[in-house]
Amino acid sequence: MTAAAHLRKGWCPGALRPMRSGDGLLVRVRPRAGAFTLSALHAVAETAKHFGSGEIDLTNRGNLQLRGVSNEGYDAAIDALRAACLIDETAAIEAVRNVVVDPLSSIDPARSYVRALAAAFEGIVVDDARLWALPGKFGVSFSGTSEPRVGGRAADIMIASDGDRFAVFLDGAAEVSCAVSEDNLLTAVRRLLLAFLDLAANDPSVRRMRDAVAAHGAPMIFAKAEVHATQSRGNGGIDPPPPVGLLARGEQVFGVGIGLPFGRIVADQLDRLCEAAAAKLNDVFTSPQRILVFPVNDHARAEAFMKVADDIGLITAGSDVRLAMDVCPGSPGCKNATTDTRGDAQRLVDGLNGSLSGYTVHVSGCEKGCARRSSADFTLVAREGRYDLIRNGSPQLAGVGALVALAEVEPGDIGNAVSRFIMESAS
Ligand code: SF4
Repeated sequence: MTAAAHLRKGWCPGALRPMRSGDGLLVRVRPRAGAFTLSALHAVAETAKHFGSGEIDLTNRGNLQLRGVSNEGYDAAIDALRAACLIDETAAIEAVRNVVVDPLSSIDPARSYVRALAAAFEGIVVDDARLWALPGKFGVSFSGTSEPRVGGRAADIMIASDGDRFAVFLDGAAEVSCAVSEDNLLTAVRRLLLAFLDLAANDPSVRRMRDAVAAHGAPMIFAKAEVHATQSRGNGGIDPPPPVGLLARGEQVFGVGIGLPFGRIVADQLDRLCEAAAAKLNDVFTSPQRILVFPVNDHARAEAFMKVADDIGLITAGSDVRLAMDVCPGSPGCKNATTDTRGDAQRLVDGLNGSLSGYTVHVSGCEKGCARRSSADFTLVAREGRYDLIRNGSPQLAGVGALVALAEVEPGDIGNAVSRFIMESAS
């Protein structure tokens, strides 16, 4: 198998279907039910070091993405990842195994255990070839709380814990849901997936569940799937705090969350984390908030582990403003980018730091806006080496001149531009 034969521009990349980027091939590996084993993480670090640039992104769906893999090294990289059980049987299977799991489920005693359900669901999408026709970006999430969005991110179908039952939501319809028992949950989700596929087959404009909801309404889709839906209370859509630093309920420590600055870690940092984690630790959980959650349940060990993470430049404090920033790879990693988004985002942090607290920021190398789907308080969109600044919007609005608060800001001036709006909103 050669990389060239499997390159698809604009597709959601995988490991068996890598995407060419400005710095080489992007090879994306998916966790299993939201978890990587410690040995798998170690294999990712080694593979990134030997066959890629050494840079690894944690995506907003909790996947790990090796950057800069060369054409020549691609086959050997896949062999190394396969040996660590990280490669699916086919590209179609890896594409459909698009599942986000609450990173605290199974370790936080206050959350429902949804990881086993997510694993069973992955088995269903692997075995049922009808579901391989789902769009590459179509995803399903499992939340251990009543908040359906895991880490504040919407998925096409969202499953939330609801007492001794589960509530199933469709993206774009927070006001309607169905309540099902654990025994009936996966049957209901499979029916909803098939109902979506049927609608998509008859209408090319239906590419995601949100499109189907907009075109037909959620009640019709639930009815088509023969699933009884009712009005839902909703929970106000409040984003949960990022699970970073010492994770505890009362006196009971149950984990440590390590944030990756702008979603990136380098192989040597990942190696250090793996070494510092206890050998008996098995699974490490990924959060769409670009956090790795290590299930450490001893206070002293947790503190020592956080010290290592701190020393190597990773995030261990929930107050770190970088946790509220979504930054795409930018130039030179992505050919579409015309600015060094990551360097510019770091300069923004260095210049403003504390005053960014409480604001969401999205720095995007172009209008595509890969790093964040929802709107942010401040969105900086690169265009020909400068940035358009959008308030309370998304990169796609950069083409709508009236919605751009400031146009063509030089990268060196973005701190002043953002600072001006922060001062205005404070006065
Ligand atoms: S938003 Fe644009 S520049 Fe950034 S990674 Fe996506 S395509 Fe590349």
